[in-house]
Amino acid sequence: MIKVTVYNEFIHEREDENTRSVYPDGIHNAIKSAVESDEITVKTITLDDVKNGLDRQLLDDTDVFIWWGHMAHDLVPDEVAEAVHQAVLKGMGIIFLHSGHHSKPFKLLMGTPCNLTWREDGDRELVWVCNPAHPIAKGIGRFIKLDHEETYGEPFSIPEPDELVFIGSFEGGEVFRAGCCYRRGNGKVFYFQPGHETFPTFKNPEIITVIKNAVHWANPDYRVKELECPNVKKPLE
Ligand code: ZN
Repeated sequence: MIKVTVYNEFIHEREDENTRSVYPDGIHNAIKSAVESDEITVKTITLDDVKNGLDRQLLDDTDVFIWWGHMAHDLVPDEVAEAVHQAVLKGMGIIFLHSGHHSKPFKLLMGTPCNLTWREDGDRELVWVCNPAHPIAKGIGRFIKLDHEETYGEPFSIPEPDELVFIGSFEGGEVFRAGCCYRRGNGKVFYFQPGHETFPTFKNPEIITVIKNAVHWANPDYRVKELECPNVKKPLE
């Protein structure tokens, strides 16, 4: 079993009627029920659970973290972001969705501002597969069509991805690196752009396929309990 923890700040759904009508039980529960399978088990947490710190045991028990946040990135304590960052360096996988591009752990892992251009217009998006051989694109055709998404455009100030799996193109003409893979320490990081809170993106079966594929891809194949820098006093020969 791959153990997944979904973090969703869970504010839009409580404060905004449009979002609540799309995700009445919250984005975290929509992702949980869509992604859970014979091979994947999912726990969910919200901002309320991390406001005062994150249980180290939860990170140790998580193979792949999924992060959705937007309006409350600043309310995630620095210690929590750093603990998530360290867990990835030790080997935990992590998937950042949509506005998670500005979350504290993503910025720590990237080391760049992670800014982009955006417009909330409900544009049609085509999420193009750049690398059909990549395991995260398995089962997807040439592109995924989303009738409405928030428009994200370049420049996206991220480090050059190790692998680019998807590029989004929008009705308004913008293009955006929509699916980016990184390795950080022992851990694997996937950024995936679709998932604005007022559109039913996480109910799209192909989007769910991508997230499930990403969970399998990011599942750790090597993980350490502590990061060490040992002083080996005795030479080998
Ligand atoms: Zn958004």
